[in-house]
Amino acid sequence: MNTFNSAWMNEDLAIFRDAAARFIDTQMVPHDAAWRAQQHVGREIWRKAGELGLLCTDVSAEYGGGGGDFRHEAVLYEELGRRGLSGFGQGVHSICAHYLVNHGTDEQRRRFLPRMASGELIGAIGMTEPAAGSDLQGIRTRAIRDGDHYVINGSKIFITNGYLSGLIALVVKTSPSEGAKGTSIIMVETAALNGFRVGRILDKMGMKAQDTAELFFEDVRVPAANLLGGAEGQGFYQLMSDLPYERALIAVAAVAAMEGAVAQTLQYVKQRKAFGKTIAEFQNTKFKLAELATKTRIARIFVDDCIAKIVAGTLDTVSASMAKYWVTDTQQEVLDECVQLHGGYGYMNEYLVCRMFADARVQRIYGGTNEIMKEVISRSL
Ligand SMILES: Cc1cc2nc3c(=O)[nH]c(=O)nc-3n(C[C@H](O)[C@H](O)[C@H](O)COP(=O)(O)OP(=O)(O)OC[C@H]3O[C@@H](n4cnc5c(N)ncnc54)[C@H](O)[C@@H]3O)c2cc1C
Repeated sequence: MNTFNSAWMNEDLAIFRDAAARFIDTQMVPHDAAWRAQQHVGREIWRKAGELGLLCTDVSAEYGGGGGDFRHEAVLYEELGRRGLSGFGQGVHSICAHYLVNHGTDEQRRRFLPRMASGELIGAIGMTEPAAGSDLQGIRTRAIRDGDHYVINGSKIFITNGYLSGLIALVVKTSPSEGAKGTSIIMVETAALNGFRVGRILDKMGMKAQDTAELFFEDVRVPAANLLGGAEGQGFYQLMSDLPYERALIAVAAVAAMEGAVAQTLQYVKQRKAFGKTIAEFQNTKFKLAELATKTRIARIFVDDCIAKIVAGTLDTVSASMAKYWVTDTQQEVLDECVQLHGGYGYMNEYLVCRMFADARVQRIYGGTNEIMKEVISRSL
């Protein structure tokens, strides 16, 4: 679908891409409509993806992962993104795994990562609360130490994979009076966990197959051994240091959606007719498509640079924030034009560009809003 050859691709990655694309076309695309209707993907698709080696691709084989790097993650995200498959929360799963890789103790990595790689444990990240999103220092969920356990009380909202998740990287206050320094991350295994409850799967504008949910914790007891990294008060540092990874993943998904939408639109305007010719023959269509292709190419080159830097371990927070903000804003512009070129059909959910347009909106909101990205960028200037 993509005609641009990224410099980071190679023969091995092309084989991996083919396998991922085949899996997605045969195991996911046929179920997407049913998944959207039920507001979540099937649990079994996670197991199947795990069996095929599509989960935790950039986690070391020592911990059950694929032993690859960020390029493998990017390939999978691209193949999903170009097809508008936003229900399968592989990105958040990988971000959750990376908290363990980068900050977990060896015992925690061994306990959780192999089960995440197999799809037995689906990962989620629990930061946002009803009263605290951008301003994470305002979270109220508390984890108070009681012997060998933490006792957790509070609630989270808008949690991706919230319904299916078996492991939540939960951001809590371990010292409520201390602000950022009192924040920690606790890995919460949800199976048969007393006091833990998944609330509604939220009814969203787009991403209809994604089980974004509310989570409630009432005197939930979690072993103290699940405190990420084993030391309290590290939560903010852990969150901040993994932001480039998360923001790069969002930018990858954004450019992939643009590529998929432009390809789909090109096909559509070549066969749809009005006034005795195809829509593609109008000068307005040609110029619009030229603009869309150019914006998509610029985004691709920026994202490719981020991918190469993540692999080299040199992607900084400011560049990742620039990519997240600019590529997702541009994604929205491109999708809007793709819908326009489809006419009324572009407003119908059975058309890919319609679903992609609705999905695109939240890309500017989650992972840190684009306004927060500009805050981060401006501080560096
Ligand atoms: C579909 C979806 C999936 C999500 N998945 C997850 C998840 O898996 N885990 C998770 O923890 N969270 C998740 N979120 C939450 C998401 O990260 C937050 O919604 C986001 O960070 C914004 O927080 P908020 O909604 O509280 O908005 P607010 O923080 O209330 O912001 C409202 C508006 O004010 C602006 N604003 C706030 N502060 C400033 C400032 N300093 N300067 C300028 N403008 C500002 C914002 O940019 C925004 O436009 C998800 C959200 C959605 C919709």
